[in-house]
Amino acid sequence: MLYFKHEISNYFYSFVFNQIEHMKKRFYAIAILFLVACGTGKPDAELTVGGRTDMFPEDVTIEEYEDEIIEDVDQERPVYRASETILTDLVHTKLEVNFDWAKSRMNGVASITAKPHFYASDSLILDAKGMDILKVQLEGKDLAYSYDSSYLKIKLNKSYTRNDKYTVMITYVAKPEERTTGGSAAITSDKGLYFINPKGEDKNKMPQIWTQGETEASSVWFPTIDSPNAKTTQEIFITVEDKYATLSNGKLIASKKNSNGTRTDHWKQDLPHAPYLFMMGIGQFKVVKDVYARPDGTKMEVNYYVEPEWEPYAKSIFGETPNMIKHFSQLLGVEYPWDKYHQIVVRDYVSGAMENTGAVIFGDYVYRTDRELLDGNDQSTIAHELFHHWFGDLVTCESWSNLPLNESFANYSQYLWDEYRYGLDEADYQAESEADGYYQSAQMQGYHNLIWFEYDDKEQMFDGHSYNKGGRILHMLRNYLGDEAFFKGISNYLNTNKFKPAEFHQLRLAFEEVSGEDLNWFFDQWFLGSGHPVLDVSQTVDETAGTVTVTVNQKQSLELSPLYKLPLQIAVFDSNGKQVHDVTVEQSEQSFTFPFSGTLKCVIFDQQQMLLAKIREEKPADQYIFQYYSGDRYKARKDGLLYGSKNKEQKGQQLILDALNDKFWSIRLLAIEKAVKLNADNSSKGLVLIKDLAMNDPNSQVRSAALNFLSKELDVAASEVIYLEKIEKDQSYLVVSTALKNLGKDNPDKAMEKARSLEKERSSKMIAGVAQLYGQHGVKDNYDFFATALKGSIIQGFDQLGVMNSLTYFISRQEPELVERSLELYTYLKEEGGFYTQMFLGQNATYLVSMCDSKIEELNEEIAAHEKNNDAAYADQARRKLKQYSELKVKFEPLAVSAEEE
Ligand SMILES: [Zn+2]
Repeated sequence: MLYFKHEISNYFYSFVFNQIEHMKKRFYAIAILFLVACGTGKPDAELTVGGRTDMFPEDVTIEEYEDEIIEDVDQERPVYRASETILTDLVHTKLEVNFDWAKSRMNGVASITAKPHFYASDSLILDAKGMDILKVQLEGKDLAYSYDSSYLKIKLNKSYTRNDKYTVMITYVAKPEERTTGGSAAITSDKGLYFINPKGEDKNKMPQIWTQGETEASSVWFPTIDSPNAKTTQEIFITVEDKYATLSNGKLIASKKNSNGTRTDHWKQDLPHAPYLFMMGIGQFKVVKDVYARPDGTKMEVNYYVEPEWEPYAKSIFGETPNMIKHFSQLLGVEYPWDKYHQIVVRDYVSGAMENTGAVIFGDYVYRTDRELLDGNDQSTIAHELFHHWFGDLVTCESWSNLPLNESFANYSQYLWDEYRYGLDEADYQAESEADGYYQSAQMQGYHNLIWFEYDDKEQMFDGHSYNKGGRILHMLRNYLGDEAFFKGISNYLNTNKFKPAEFHQLRLAFEEVSGEDLNWFFDQWFLGSGHPVLDVSQTVDETAGTVTVTVNQKQSLELSPLYKLPLQIAVFDSNGKQVHDVTVEQSEQSFTFPFSGTLKCVIFDQQQMLLAKIREEKPADQYIFQYYSGDRYKARKDGLLYGSKNKEQKGQQLILDALNDKFWSIRLLAIEKAVKLNADNSSKGLVLIKDLAMNDPNSQVRSAALNFLSKELDVAASEVIYLEKIEKDQSYLVVSTALKNLGKDNPDKAMEKARSLEKERSSKMIAGVAQLYGQHGVKDNYDFFATALKGSIIQGFDQLGVMNSLTYFISRQEPELVERSLELYTYLKEEGGFYTQMFLGQNATYLVSMCDSKIEELNEEIAAHEKNNDAAYADQARRKLKQYSELKVKFEPLAVSAEEE
C-alpha cells in the first residue's frame, strides 16, 4: 500500500497538477542555479534565489562544498513508513452481496459515497484486489475506469471540491480463491473472504463464509480505501439461502424473505469505522442471546454465534462479556460506543480472534465444554477483542507503524480484567508471562522501536513488541501517573480522537494535558526506543550507621537502548516495619542510601514489581525468605520462594511447607516443584500437604502437579488408590489425564480398562491423554479410536498433533495389515489435518518408513537363518512379510517426502 502513490501517478497528477505548476518556477530556479554554479566555478558569483544571496557559506568554495556532498552520496535515506496520504474521504459504504458457494465467489454491488479530502479532484482511486469489475456508474451513467487487479482508478464525471459528495456504484465479483498469490504463509491468510467447506464435502465441518480484513484484505471483498486512517459508515445487504444465519457490523435493520427461497439481511452501522474492521459471517449458526444494560437503563444485544452442538456451552464460554463491557466502560470513563456486541466462532480461522466492530470473530479453539472450562478459559482473548472497541475501532492507529495504539491497550486489557475479576496475583502472574513473551519474541526476531517506522512488511508489526511490551509499558505509565491520572488521560485520548485515526503523540499529549507534566522523557525511551533496562542491583549494609545502600547499575547496551529514567519504589523492612522510598534511577550507576532501625530484614527493589526490566539482584537468602512472607506482589513472593528455598536450614524448609498453602495457585505449583528439596524431617509433612492438594486444590494445574509428585513419592498401591479416585471423581480433564498417564506406568491393564470408558469424553485434552496411553500400550482393536479421534471434530490444534504422534507410536508396533490400514488416516491428515499436524506429518511418515526399513533388515536376517536351517516354510512366511513391508515402505515414502518438501 505504500507504493500506492507511485503507481497512481497518472491520476494523482490530474488533481495536484496546479500545485506542481505552482512549484515549477522554484524547481527551475534551483536547477538554473546549479547549472550556473557548476559552469562558472566561481565561489564569489552572485547567486540569487528568492532574494537571498548567501546560498553557500562565504568561506567555502563551491568545489569544497561539492566534495562534502559527494562524501554523503552513498547514504540512503532510511525507509520511513508514513501514513497513507488522504486524498479522498470515505463517507458511506453500502454493499449488496450474494454468494456462489460452488465457485467460492461473491457477487457484489458497492455504492461508495465519498468526497475529496482537501484538494479538488475528478478521480477516485480504490483498493480492489483480484476482482472482476463489471461496471462503474455515477447517477446511472457509466464512468471510465482502469483496473489492474490491485487499484481501481475511476474518472469521475467532473471535478469535485471537498464540499461535494458523490456516490459511485461498482458492480463486481470477488474471487478470493483465484487471486495470484505467492503462496507464502503470510499470503494464505490474506484472502479477505473465506469459504470453508463450501460444497459440504467434509461432514465434520459446517459450511461457512467469514471475512478477515486486517491488515489490508477487506479490499479483496469490496472496493475501498484499505488503510487504517480511512473511516466510513456502512450497511450491508447479505442475500443467502434462508437456512443460514448472517452476522455483520452494526444493527440488523431488516430481514426479508425473497420469492426464490433466499433471504436478505440488512445490517447497518451509523458510526464510522475503518474498512479493515468490516465483517461478514454466514452459516447455520445458532444465536445465543445475552444482554448488556447500559447505565441509562437501555439494553444492548450481546449475542454468541456458535455451531449447534455448542449452543449449550455458549454462555459458559462468553458469559462474562456483559460484565466486561460494564467494567471497561466504567474504567475508561467512555461508555461502550457501538450499537451491539456479537461474537462468532468459525472454522479454520487464520488468526486468534479479530475485533471487527461489534462482530468479533474467534477461532474454534474457544469451543470448550463446561468441564473443559475448568482447566482454562479464553476470557483474556475475549477482553482483548472487546478493549479494541475503544482502542482500534473507536480511535484507530493511523498507520501500521502506530499499531501499538491498538494492540498495547488490547494486551493491557487482559491485565485489567484479571485484576478486576481474579485479583492482583492473577494479573501479575499473567503480566510476567507477557513480559517473557516479549523477551522471547525480541530475541528471535530482533529488537525495534515500539512505534516502528522502518519495518520491511507491515505484518512484522504484529509481534511481541506491539502487544506484550506495549502492555507492560502502559502498566509502568499507570504506576508512574497513578490510577486517577492514567485513566483520566486515557479518557481524554479517547474523547479527543474518537472516530478518527491517531498517532502516538496524541496519546502523549492526552496524558500531558491531564497530568500537567511533559512526558517526552517517558515516550522517547519507551515508544521511540528499543530494548529494555538490564539492571544489576546490590546492597551494602552499614550496621553502625544503621543504613543500607542500594546500588543500581544499568547494564543494557547503549547502542541498542537508551540510558533509562526509571521512577520506582524501594521498600525497606526493619524492626519498625516497612518504609517505602520513591527514587528515580537515571544514571548508569547510582546509589541510594536509606536508614533502618533495629534489624534490617529485607529490601525489595521495585516493590510494585512493575518494571519491564531484566533485574539481577544480589541479596542474602534470609532476605528472600522474609520477602516471601512480606512482599505485597506475586512476583516478590515468587522470587522469595525461588531463592529463599535455597536456604538449607529449617526456615528454608518451612518456607516450602508454607508455600504449599499459599493463597495463589501458581505459588503452590512452584512449591510442589521445590518440595523435592524437603529433607527427611520435613518430607512426610510435605507429602501430607501435597496429597491434600491432589485431592482438594481448587486449581486443576495444582492437582495435576501434585499427582505427578505423588507418583514419584508414594508406593504403587497407595498411588493407585489416588489415581483411581481421580479418574472416577475429578471433574478436570487435565487431572484425569494425568492420573491415567501415571496409572499406565504402574498398572497398564487397569489404565487401559479405564481409558475405554474415557474414549467418548468430549474433550480434546482427554482424547489426547487416552491416545498417549494407547500409543504405549494399545492393541489392534484401539485403531478405531484413533480413526474416530483424528477424523472427528473434538481434538484441536496441538492436541491433534499429539494424537497423531501417539498413532505413529501405536502403529509402529502393529502387524503390517494394520499399518497398511493406517495409510488412509495419514493421507486424510495430509489434506485435512491442522497446522501443527501437517507440519509434523512428514516426520511421522519418515518414522514409519524407517520402521519398515528395520523390519526389512530383520526379516532378511531371519530368511537367511531359516534358509541355513532348511526351514523352507518359515522362510516363505518371512518372505511374504518382507514383501508386505517393502510395499508399505513404498506407500509411506511419498507422505514422508512430500510433507517434508512442503
Ligand atoms: Zn489485538
